Amino acid sequence: MTSQNPVFIPGPTNIPEVLRKAVDMPTIDHRSPVFGRILHPALEGVKKVLKTTQGQVFVFPSTGTGGWETAITNTLSPGDKVLATRNGMFSHRWIDMCQRHGLDVQVVTQEWGEGVPADRFEEILTADKGHQIKVVLATHNETATGVRSDIAAVRRALDAAGHPALLFVDGVSSIACYDFRMDEWGVDIAVTGSQKGFMLPPGLAIVGFSPKAMAAVETAKLPRTFFDIRDMAKGYANNGYPYTPPVGLLNGLNVACGMLLDEGLENVFARHHRIAEGVRRAVGAWGLQLCAKRPELYSDSVSAIRVPEGFDANKIVSHALNAYGVAFGTGLGDVAGKVFRIGHLGSLTDVMALSGIATAEMVMADLGLPVKLGSGVAAAQDHYRQSATAMKAAA
Ligand SMILES: *Cc1c(COP(=O)(O)O)cnc(C)c1O
Repeated sequence: MTSQNPVFIPGPTNIPEVLRKAVDMPTIDHRSPVFGRILHPALEGVKKVLKTTQGQVFVFPSTGTGGWETAITNTLSPGDKVLATRNGMFSHRWIDMCQRHGLDVQVVTQEWGEGVPADRFEEILTADKGHQIKVVLATHNETATGVRSDIAAVRRALDAAGHPALLFVDGVSSIACYDFRMDEWGVDIAVTGSQKGFMLPPGLAIVGFSPKAMAAVETAKLPRTFFDIRDMAKGYANNGYPYTPPVGLLNGLNVACGMLLDEGLENVFARHHRIAEGVRRAVGAWGLQLCAKRPELYSDSVSAIRVPEGFDANKIVSHALNAYGVAFGTGLGDVAGKVFRIGHLGSLTDVMALSGIATAEMVMADLGLPVKLGSGVAAAQDHYRQSATAMKAAA
């Protein structure tokens, strides 16, 4: 294994040198105003990335999973009804967490490779005349299947039904990768982590709460201590945390937001789309198919690639690691062994993507799959050359 190669797992993502340096800090007094000068700009930066002016941002020493727990324990009470879709491993795990907290989850089961069914949600919400459903959960980017769901459509479903339920969105592998609009889509809680679009090491749960979600905190009865946002808010007001903050990671978060906003969020999204499209062209040239069913579901963060029937996709992942020191993602849950995943989110360039595509080709050829060396690389090169020209012409 070499640490020179980029990783192509869908998180943790490659860490730019400037962010590795930013998280490597000497100890400071975390109860001094010096800490406030790191904390508050980081929180403001996250608000811009989430596209919210009305929401409040909280950052916990945790991961995306802790962000889910923050969302549900701060706003719900035992027995509360939740509406969710299971269409992949991450949506499944969020549902599981709700059930373990004693919530009553109405699950709409979707085939893996499908998205959140906004039309079905609208029917269910319309039928819920007594407004028993307190929260709708939606996973924006299902990382297990490479599926992007339409969050604006879920908001329209709530509005069409005239339903007051809160909308919680798992944006762990979409935020800072492709378009996310907390205020415009009426997202009540947005959840992400440090190690995907923010390009940092794992260790932070990042959540945005709308004013409506903040109001729900006062009546929610699920127990919470570590993740109580009221304690966190009090801490922030005094330039501190209710406990010891992960200072280096927060410094990194501040610098990461600066990088994203300097590049321009729309340019970050366009870069992800371009790189993802190159990977998709390569998949097509290999004669393989994505797990995602239709182009409008294709994720710009990760591609889950179906292997021929009877072939074990995990062999691709282990051979890539053993022979070439390159990490791809395995298939999870229902699609274990059926897909391998190329993560193309975070700090990535065309050149890095080409190296991953070239490696995947070598691996598949080594394992006897009918993939012609250079075919996927050429398809991606064509796309990168053409879109580079288009970008120059537009400039
Ligand atoms: C990675 C991921 C998570 C889990 O985040 P952790 O940081 O591993 O806890 C949740 N949801 C999605 C969509 C993810 O991609």
